[in-house]
Amino acid sequence: MFFVPLFSGSSGNCSVVCSDNGTRVLVDAGLSATAIKCALDKCQISAESISAILITHEHSDHIKGAGILSKQLNIPIYANAAAWDKMTAVRDKIRDCNIRVFETNKDFFISEIGVYPFSIPHDTADPVGFSFFADGKKLSIATDMGHVTREIEEVLAGSDLLLIESNHDVDMVHNSRYPDFLRRRILGNNGHLSNVTCGNLLVKLNAMGVNRVILGHLSQENNTEELALQTVASILRKAEITERQMQLRIAHRDRACGMFEV
Ligand SMILES: [Zn+2]
Ligand SMILES: [Zn+2]
Repeated sequence: MFFVPLFSGSSGNCSVVCSDNGTRVLVDAGLSATAIKCALDKCQISAESISAILITHEHSDHIKGAGILSKQLNIPIYANAAAWDKMTAVRDKIRDCNIRVFETNKDFFISEIGVYPFSIPHDTADPVGFSFFADGKKLSIATDMGHVTREIEEVLAGSDLLLIESNHDVDMVHNSRYPDFLRRRILGNNGHLSNVTCGNLLVKLNAMGVNRVILGHLSQENNTEELALQTVASILRKAEITERQMQLRIAHRDRACGMFEV
């Protein structure tokens, strides 16, 4: 399996999961169709080779280009029923046969790729993260989470590669010019994961078989790539987890950060 994070952050999310057999699916499509096709092109992935789009939740940074892409490429969009209810603008653009509904916490297949959508705490109708199973490997994606539950830890355990949210530095949010309601939203139970919470989670996950991680969905206002990396790395170091035991990378906001073999 291969994984290519194209865009990650509140200005838009999109990544590609590829099986060795050549099945390719997009996870979220939160930028314009043109921007996504251009990014795919740069990574030498033909847009025509994409066979489906999976949606984590209906925030616009996850669905912006989904309708147009589905229409242009004539490919299905998979989302749960609650998300479809909120995605009328997407639904109106696409053919009925391309509306596919999955159930949260119930696995399904897209060709030979096994997909497990799991529930996450975020302020939308029924948000999910995904685990993918192909070629004997497991890849998980978990962003847009206000906190982490025991169930989520168990789902992420044993992932050969994990894209996890490291959204913000808590002090930067407190000192930001954001209005109070927005600060409360980000820091709340259904908001986003901080660098420190992410680091603490990774200490636990390392003991549960996870040792390759991409930090993603970084806030443009309240985080930097260096700060996210430093904060998480120092928490791992304090827990005596070496760089070899936990490899850290960053998913960039505006460009692909490489192709990861899983
Ligand atoms: Zn988001
Ligand atoms: Zn969101």
